[in-house]
Amino acid sequence: MNVPLLDLKAQYKTIKAEIDAAVAGVFESQYFILGPVVKECEVALARYCGCSHGVGVSSGTDALLVALMAENIGPGDEVITTPYSFFATAGSIVRVGARPVFVDIDPATFNINPALIKAKITPKTKAIIPVHLYGLMAGMDEIMQLAGKHGLAIIEDAAQAVGSSDEKGRRACSVGHYGCLSFFPSKNLGGAGDGGMVVMNDAARAEKVAWLRNHGAEPKYYHKFIGGNFRLDALQAAVVLAKLKHLDSWTAARRANAVRYDRLFAEAGLVAAGKVTGSGKVQLPCIPKSGHVVNQYVIRVQRRDELRAFLSGKGVGNEVYYPVPLHLQECFAYLGGRVGDCPESEKAANETVALPVYPELSDEQARYVVACIAEFLK
Ligand SMILES: *Cc1c(COP(=O)(O)O)cnc(C)c1O
Repeated sequence: MNVPLLDLKAQYKTIKAEIDAAVAGVFESQYFILGPVVKECEVALARYCGCSHGVGVSSGTDALLVALMAENIGPGDEVITTPYSFFATAGSIVRVGARPVFVDIDPATFNINPALIKAKITPKTKAIIPVHLYGLMAGMDEIMQLAGKHGLAIIEDAAQAVGSSDEKGRRACSVGHYGCLSFFPSKNLGGAGDGGMVVMNDAARAEKVAWLRNHGAEPKYYHKFIGGNFRLDALQAAVVLAKLKHLDSWTAARRANAVRYDRLFAEAGLVAAGKVTGSGKVQLPCIPKSGHVVNQYVIRVQRRDELRAFLSGKGVGNEVYYPVPLHLQECFAYLGGRVGDCPESEKAANETVALPVYPELSDEQARYVVACIAEFLK
C-alpha cells in the first residue's frame, strides 16, 4: 500500500468543478493582481479568523515580514520567538535587521513556553512571534499579559493554524496584534502557489500593512513608506475563497484522523506512559477536545531515523518538522546559539516524526500506517 504524507490530488478531485470555475473567472476578468476577488478573500478570511481586517500578501513569510515592518522593527531591536518552527519565523526577523531571541518550547505542546519568556525580555525587545505549531494555539493569555506590561507587539504565526481556537474559543490571529496566514499548498487552506494574509482587529495597522505590501504608496506613486511588492494574486485569492467553503469539513476530517490514530495506537498497546526513551513505544501528540486543526500529526519515538527509513520502505510518507532547531542553524551561528540552549526543542528535533493525516486519508491507510509502526517497534 502507498500512503503519501499529503495527497492534494485526492482533494482536487472532490472540488475540481469549483476550482476550475474560480480560476476561469479570474481569466475572464483579466484582473490578476489585487482587485475585487482579493478584496472578497480578505473580508471572508478576516471574518473566519474573528478579525475585522485582512490584507492579502504574497506568502506567509511576507505576512510576517510586513507585520514586522509595520511595527518599525529593525536594527537594534530584539524579537522573541520559538526555535522550533519553520525557518521563516526567524528569517523574517533577521530580514528587517532585528535580532531573534529564542525561547524554548513546552515539550507537551511543541509551542513556545510562556513561562520562559519573561527572562528574555530586555529594553530592546519589541515584539513576540508565537507560532501555533502543527495547528495548536500557543498560550496567548500569558503572552498578551507580557505584551501589555512591556508594550510589545504580538505577531501570531498562524501559518499552520488557520481556524484553530484556544480553550476560550478565541480564533488564532484574533488575540495578538497581527495574525499571519500562509496559503502554501501543504497548509490546511492551500492555494495554487504562494500566498498569504495578515489579519487583524485594528484599522490603523491594517492600513499600514496594506500600504507596505504595495511599495508604501498612498495614493499611487506617492510613497509614504518604503514597502515592497508583497501583493496577493487574484488567482490565489480565487482558489483560497473557493476552498474556504470546505475548510471546516476538512478540519473535522483531520481531527477525526487524529482521534483514529490515537485509538489505533492505544489498541496496539503502543502508547508510552511517560517519556519515549527506552519504552519502545510512541508518545502521542497533545490534541485537546476542540481547537486543534491538525495541520500535522506528530508522534515522538526513539530511533526516529530508523523508523523513518522503515516507513519509507513500506510506502508510508513521513517527515520531520523540523530536524534542526533555529538557534542551531548555520546562518544564525553569528547569534551564538549553542547545543543545550533550548534542550526541549533539540530533543523534539531528534524524536518527532509527522504521519499522514490529510482529510482524505482512509481508515485502511491509517491502519496500515499504525501496523507498519507496530512491526518496526516489535
Ligand atoms: C509555512 C510556514 C511559514 C511560511 O509560509 P510561506 O507561505 O511558505 O512563506 C511560516 N511559518 C510557519 C510556522 C510555517 O509553517
